[in-house]
Parts: sequence; C-alpha cells; structure tokens
Amino acid sequence: MNEAIDVKTENARQLAAALRQAEFEALDTPFDGLPAPGETIEVASGVHWLRMPLPAALDHINLWLIEDGEGWAIVDSGFALDDTKALWRQLFKGVMAGRPVTRVIVTHFHPDHVGAAGWLCGERGARLWISRTEWLMHKMLMFDDEGENSAFQAEFYRANGLADADADTMLARGNGYRTVSSEAPHDFHRLAEGDLVEIGGNEWRIMVSTGHAPEHVSLYCEALGVLIAGDQILPRISPNVTLAGSQPEANPLLDFLASIERFRSLPEDTLVLPSHVVPYRGLHTRIDQLARHHRERLDEILTALVRPMTAAEIVPVLFGSGRAFDIYQKGFAMGEALAHLAYLEKQGKLTRETGADGLVRYAPPGTTQD
Ligand SMILES: [Zn+2]
Repeated sequence: MNEAIDVKTENARQLAAALRQAEFEALDTPFDGLPAPGETIEVASGVHWLRMPLPAALDHINLWLIEDGEGWAIVDSGFALDDTKALWRQLFKGVMAGRPVTRVIVTHFHPDHVGAAGWLCGERGARLWISRTEWLMHKMLMFDDEGENSAFQAEFYRANGLADADADTMLARGNGYRTVSSEAPHDFHRLAEGDLVEIGGNEWRIMVSTGHAPEHVSLYCEALGVLIAGDQILPRISPNVTLAGSQPEANPLLDFLASIERFRSLPEDTLVLPSHVVPYRGLHTRIDQLARHHRERLDEILTALVRPMTAAEIVPVLFGSGRAFDIYQKGFAMGEALAHLAYLEKQGKLTRETGADGLVRYAPPGTTQD
C-alpha cells in the first residue's frame, strides 16, 4: 500500500519549534545565566542550583543543594562518570565548604538522576532517600548482567516495526544503564506520597507521580514556594513517556496526564525547579501546554492512520522524517509513539493486532488488518 502518510514536513517542524519557543517565552524564567561548572546559583533561601554535563543530545541535568543544618541535602546526582565526579569533588571543597552531606535524595531511577547517587553516598557517608519502586528499578537494572532487559525492549520495538539494523544495534549495546550508574546502597530511606520531610528547618511535601517513571518523587515546600519537579513538569521539553515492553497493556500517557493535573493544586507562581532547562514560574500554564501538546499528537496520529500501521510508521508523524536520531532517541521515539497509540487503543479509537508477519499494527476500528 502506498497511501501518503501524513509525515511532518520541514515547514511543520519549523512551526512546531516556533510554537515551543513561544510557549517557553510564556513562562517567567527569573534567573539570567546558568551556573558555571562546579558552581551554584541560589534560587530560593538555602536552595542552590547546579548543573552536571550529560554526554547526550540533552547535554545537562539540573541538580539541587539544600542547606540542611550543618550540612547539605543533595537532590539528584548526574551520571557516575569521571567529569561529574570531578565536579562533585570541586563542589565538596568549594561551595559545600567541606560540610557533610546529610542525605542524597533521588527523584527517579533514570541514570542521569540516580547514576552518581551510590558513589555520592559512599564518598560522603550519606543515606539514599528514594521511593521504593525507583530503588527497585535501579537495582533490577544494575543486576542485569547480560543486558536482558534492554534486549527484551529491543525485540519489543522490532515487533512494533523498528528496523532490524536499529534493533540489532540496541541488542549489541547490552546494559547501557550500568555504564553510567554506580551501585546504590542496599538500604534506603523510603519516600512515599504525602510524606513531610524536614530539610533545613523547612517542611517539604513528597508528591509521587507516574507516567515518566513508575514512582517519581517531586518535593514541594510551601514556605519557600518552591517545587523540585524532577522530570515530571519540564519547561520547553515534553517529558518522555514510554510504553515499555515489560508492560505492553499499560497506559503511561494516561498516567502522565493524570499526574501532571495533580500539580494544579499548587500556586501558579510556584518557583518550579526542573531537572532540565531552567527554573521557571507558570506552573498551570505549563501543565496546560503539556496537556495540549499530547492532545495534538493524539489527533495527528488519528489523522495519519488511514490504514493499519506499526508504531515505527507513526514515529515520523510525531517527530518528522528528516530528523537524524541517534539510537537512544530512536528508542525514546518508539516508546513515545507506542504510549500515544496505547492511549488511543484504550479509548477505543484504535485496534491493535499482530499480523502474519509478526508485526504489531494499529488500525481504526472497523478496518480489517490483513
Ligand atoms: Zn527521567
């Protein structure tokens, strides 16, 4: 079949980029400049912003130091790579003035957040504070000697139309998680929804979200008017929402959209400290933007789906066909396309079937798949 698929053209992509920029400009970004490597910017009383490098298209992560009595609470950690460790050592001696680390708080199991946490706990004699599922996810991936989890995910993407060469590259990669992560301690302090954590004389409320990660932790301090958002509500970037092969009947996009709505209970002028890009105010505006972004992607898929199609065929509908994705971005794009397709399937707007060729395809209800 050769029906024209509604692929995003270069023009449409430029328009989408302009819209993203306009949306970003609708937020209030109160800080000029970025923290220099190994330095911090105080963004609220006793709360300090620092950045660590990431060797990826997304080239940095924001981390937070909170003054905590005689020491420092750290939120998130960066990759466990030499450049990040060197910058942490610079911080220990410099900004942190040799004072102890009281705890290492981790928002979720993704390696840019938890990667150096085990190393930090070991270096500074600190405990890990994390939600139970995120700790378990980290441990599961650290114990995966043969890279079975990523191999399973590669085969899941292949069955959903990912080109053999790309699936083979993912297979050959093995357990990439371990190459950028240190082993977290075997005991941890569990964070759960509604917990009140006292840090440096202020109370921080734990808000648990799902959709981006299974039990993602954000921290809200009413007295400071500050939300440490993790990856849940990023400015400019739509947090990755992925359907994992381990749970093919899940509906992570529904989970994600429901999770971000819960943050509307916080004031609009909350200072949001996100794990990527820059701090901002305009929480409700950003929730509106993210919800609209996903509604538009869902509509684009329904328009494009004129015949049974694999998730891989939907990727260019969402992201354009001309973009040169590296293998990581291809994985994110597949997961994102699958999450949107799963959402539409659960709404009864699509059906999902496995063809005689072994490929999973989605189709509008009433069309026959052959
Ligand atoms: Zn993440």
